[in-house]
Amino acid sequence: MFEHIQAAPADPILGLNDAYKSDLNPNKINLGVGVYKDEQGNTPILKAVKQAEERLLTQEKTKSYLSIEGAPAYRSAVQKLLFGNDHNIINKQLAQTAHTPGGTGALRVAAEFIKKHLPEATIWVSNPTWANHQSVFQSVGLEVGSYAYYDAKNKSLDFEAMLASLSQIPEGDVVLFHGCCHNPTGIDPTPEQWYQLAKLSSKQGFLPLFDFAYQGFGQSLNDDAKGLRTFLEHVPEMLIANSFSKNFGLYNERVGALTIICETAEQAETAFTQVKRCIRTNYSNPPSHGSAIVAEILNDPELYALWESELKDMRIRIHEMRSLFVNTLRVKGVSQDFSFISQQQGMFSFSGLTPDQVTQLRKDYGIYIVGSGRISVAGLTHDNMEPLCSAIAEILNN
Ligand code: PMP
Repeated sequence: MFEHIQAAPADPILGLNDAYKSDLNPNKINLGVGVYKDEQGNTPILKAVKQAEERLLTQEKTKSYLSIEGAPAYRSAVQKLLFGNDHNIINKQLAQTAHTPGGTGALRVAAEFIKKHLPEATIWVSNPTWANHQSVFQSVGLEVGSYAYYDAKNKSLDFEAMLASLSQIPEGDVVLFHGCCHNPTGIDPTPEQWYQLAKLSSKQGFLPLFDFAYQGFGQSLNDDAKGLRTFLEHVPEMLIANSFSKNFGLYNERVGALTIICETAEQAETAFTQVKRCIRTNYSNPPSHGSAIVAEILNDPELYALWESELKDMRIRIHEMRSLFVNTLRVKGVSQDFSFISQQQGMFSFSGLTPDQVTQLRKDYGIYIVGSGRISVAGLTHDNMEPLCSAIAEILNN
């Protein structure tokens, strides 16, 4: 029965991680997968998370199932983080939120919901986008198109081209936006550009789907939500897939959420019954532990303050590594201009390194970068900066 099955291609990012793990080079450097690393190269458990877990350990009374949509304390805390306390959307109950296994789970549930209830819709993603977007949407049979985003020559957002592309998208289609810290380019629209995009969305009548996986990694929790909140002033309906993998460091706990916003509370309630149906037939109900940690932190002022300061430390370290990377390349004699890297934000930047150069870095130096040249800036440390920049300088200057 199974003999005809062919091997699936390795996942371009997780496959690279496996190759890194089996590399025996003691000086290897992993700049592939988007996981935050501290100065020692570890992915730490945040203090706020540990403290929340200690509380949970003593308070937890049952391992019985959660409901399909997850725990109420978690669902309401997610909405406050997305919209800000006392937002109209919350007061008027225009949004319904379901806890999903990570941001990927939220995207998958959103995909099924779209396929079932907007069967004619094409979903549009930026060019380029996170490698998994296309596969998640195609796996439910959705048509996936792409809109212009990146200006490779100037290493910037090609906003004119983006507007031109989005102006072609008809009413009823779905457009995915990265809420902040665009993966893989690290380039986001400015507040003024978000305003223009929101106006365009309202004019064209396409449905925005925000993928919000890095809240707090760009400027701040509130600043990073500006794009999404600007849209809410102009469009009545939206989907938001958010993740707490990065900003709480809860990668393996699989905590995220899908939020649906409708024109009225009744519509939101009705549409949400269908979201729940997608979940029920998929994984039935979410895992509890990660969401209990997030709810404990978000609903407790002391833990919240601790978490926010730890998140700030991660963000500042990444910004510092960006500047140090640019400066160290200069010191190593690289004449090519890499200054754009210090202007971008979030975990990733497109380095501009070619696939051949990326291969050479892996083979000759044990430096792992995704084939597109995307660098996970969060993997840079003071210790690996020198060898990394020396290797890049040797490759670029030869
Ligand atoms: N969207 C984007 C843009 C991402 O970068 C990621 C994680 N790499 C996700 C979604 C998925 O997040 P999670 O690990 O929580 O499934």
